Amino acid sequence: MQSRSESTVAEPGAVARRKSLQSVVRCGDHVVTVGGDAPVRVQSMTNTDTAQVIETAIQVKELALAGSEMVRLTVNTEEAARAVPQIREQLDRMGIHVPLIGDFHFNGHRLLSDYPECAQALGKYRINPGNVGKGEKRDRQFATMVEIAAKYDKAIRIGVNWGSLDQELLASMMDENALRSEPWSAKRLMREALIASALDSAARAVEIGLSRHQISLSCKVSGVQDLIAVYRDLGARSDYCLHLGLTEAGMGTKGIVASTAALSVLLQEGIGDTIRVSLTPAPGEPRTQEVLVASEILQSLGLRAFAPSVTACPGCGRTTSTTFQELTQQIDSYLRSQMPIWSAKYPGVERMKVAVMGCIVNGPGESKHADIGISLPGTGEAPAAPVYIDGEKRQTLRGDNIAAEFQAIVEAYVQQRFAR
Ligand code: SF4
Repeated sequence: MQSRSESTVAEPGAVARRKSLQSVVRCGDHVVTVGGDAPVRVQSMTNTDTAQVIETAIQVKELALAGSEMVRLTVNTEEAARAVPQIREQLDRMGIHVPLIGDFHFNGHRLLSDYPECAQALGKYRINPGNVGKGEKRDRQFATMVEIAAKYDKAIRIGVNWGSLDQELLASMMDENALRSEPWSAKRLMREALIASALDSAARAVEIGLSRHQISLSCKVSGVQDLIAVYRDLGARSDYCLHLGLTEAGMGTKGIVASTAALSVLLQEGIGDTIRVSLTPAPGEPRTQEVLVASEILQSLGLRAFAPSVTACPGCGRTTSTTFQELTQQIDSYLRSQMPIWSAKYPGVERMKVAVMGCIVNGPGESKHADIGISLPGTGEAPAAPVYIDGEKRQTLRGDNIAAEFQAIVEAYVQQRFAR
């Protein structure tokens, strides 16, 4: 019989990562490792017209500053291919050394052959085996892209998507399935076709001459349970580095929740070496939202830390003014805005925990658990806000200037605790 002191659950945060090959994505001297013992990487994709050099460079910069460690852009036309080295140049001039990934469909073999400066400026090529061509042409065009990747020492992602699955492969697998005494369900067949397309293409790329280390795989679907099933299987059947993402996740809350649900299950099982959250931005919403969501998923799971986290209560009938919500929002955006400066000056600051609480019920307790916390007065309480630092009450703020004073206390704490 188990003693009371024995733990029946794994230690929090103890995620055993699946063993994967490590690939290297380069941008000049700047190198991003993916897979192996590298942290799970965040990546994103632009939605500008790649041919618009300045507009695209600005969006890449925004995504990189938000925390995207690689940025993918569509390379669909000659104008886009011509623009890629110019975008790279603009970014280098701005000191943004994030590697660019070229997203190729249908004409990638031609664009990469005809525009060698584009091929060299990219750190990685995404190749969709379902959109490379048909029959004999497909093999030749796929080989061209892989040969160029090998020639310039670039990584590739074999990115299979159920919306553009290799139809010839699917048809032949359906024929085989019809001959089975107990045919697989349509869903199982689809999952198997996705995985077969990725693994067969990877094997062909290796035959052509690409190192296995330089290949990563993805098999994206838009259903949460399907994605989990596909990646569990894919992860068990290969040691390639895996790019994880729920395709066409959708807008707003639905997109965030669906992506978080799918990715969290897999990441907790150690599956996934780089993630992208495919959100449809609402009109006017910044593209960087997908980077923040991806980072929050990894930070919430305890896999990485990007920015200090703010613990805040939801508020209730004890918080009848908006002061508490305003202070929480102000502190959260202040912490995020400081990170580009702080991350270089104050190592470890990204793990700091800040609490902003609405009243005396849980305020002092939660604030003591944080590195620094404030408990605001709820309705009917004395108008005083005690501040807790490293678990102890240090001072009490009063009056109309609590937000600015608390921000100054946080800044002083960071300088004192995290300075090199
Ligand atoms: S800490 Fe106070 S204000 Fe916040 S939810 Fe709990 S009871 Fe409500």
